[in-house]
Amino acid sequence: MKKDLKELNFEELKSELSLMGEKPFRAAQIFSWMHKSLVCSANDMTNISLKLREKLKEEYSYTVLEQEEKQVSKLDDTAKYLFRLPDGNCVESVRMVYKHGVSVCISSQVGCRMGCKFCASTLGGLVRGLSAAEMLEQIYSIERDTGSRVDNIVIMGIGEPMDNYNEVVKFIRMITDERGLNISGRNITVSSCGLVPEIKRFAGEKLQVTLAISLHAVTDEKRRKIMPVANKYSIEELMEAVDVFFETTGRRVSFEYALIAGVNDTEDDAKALAGLAFSHKCHVNLIPVNPVTERGLSAPDRTHVLKFQNMLEKKGINATIRREMGRDIDGACGQLRRKRNIVDNSGEA
Ligand code: SF4
Repeated sequence: MKKDLKELNFEELKSELSLMGEKPFRAAQIFSWMHKSLVCSANDMTNISLKLREKLKEEYSYTVLEQEEKQVSKLDDTAKYLFRLPDGNCVESVRMVYKHGVSVCISSQVGCRMGCKFCASTLGGLVRGLSAAEMLEQIYSIERDTGSRVDNIVIMGIGEPMDNYNEVVKFIRMITDERGLNISGRNITVSSCGLVPEIKRFAGEKLQVTLAISLHAVTDEKRRKIMPVANKYSIEELMEAVDVFFETTGRRVSFEYALIAGVNDTEDDAKALAGLAFSHKCHVNLIPVNPVTERGLSAPDRTHVLKFQNMLEKKGINATIRREMGRDIDGACGQLRRKRNIVDNSGEA
């Protein structure tokens, strides 16, 4: 199989080109064409000799995603993209426009094997992890499509980022590379359902990104009911990893908490959540759970959500209620899925 040119970081590109007898400045030119100008083919690298362009095309593949579908919310201009990967699998990405800039939520895997009960992304299991190039391309395709810059990235779409560790770390290093899009690590959020050893390892990468932990329940018993990962790691072990991340990087961690009516929304839940957030210096994002037909779970009513937030704030915890973006296009949290492939596999399409 050919190597993917877009998958090479700057140093790797430099050494590949030197093996071809090319001067080091060529690496800077080609890297910039791929990761700054976002060209779709080596053909467009106009300051590179025709001979070298031909050679690059011959010897390397070049990941570009095909936009299969784009749905734009009538409620808030949120756009959900369905991208086809080079092997025919599809993933979704969501672009949201906020006052503070454009955020894109990307997928890190085709499917997911974590099995969280409130999430549509896991319904067909895991197919494979995405390459760093396929993650970069979700951002690049959206920039090409809209002509505007992406300011913030959340790795919170389909997949568990820590289950595709090496490629996710490579993606972060490449998207923050000053020779590429140069997006600040502080504008990147990585979400994890709590793979403890990987979170500790991630802390050691010393990336200045935000870590968001999908907590969703405050006792092991409740958490096990909605998140199978809790059978492997206890909340205590997870909190130890949170502390390691904070102590190593100096970056505060946030807790994602999907409010599910009758499951995790009692006063006792609020008290215990406040306790955890206080002891581990975490911010809390409350997400009224979004409907996923197959799961039959629903969110508490608005008054109850506000009451829950109020209970946290009374205990001195900074808690925000996530604005629900793109709900009419199934673009909100937990609603992304490998729709196209699931339909294909079931023979319904
Ligand atoms: S919430 Fe995240 S980790 Fe859990 S099943 Fe969905 S995509 Fe996977």
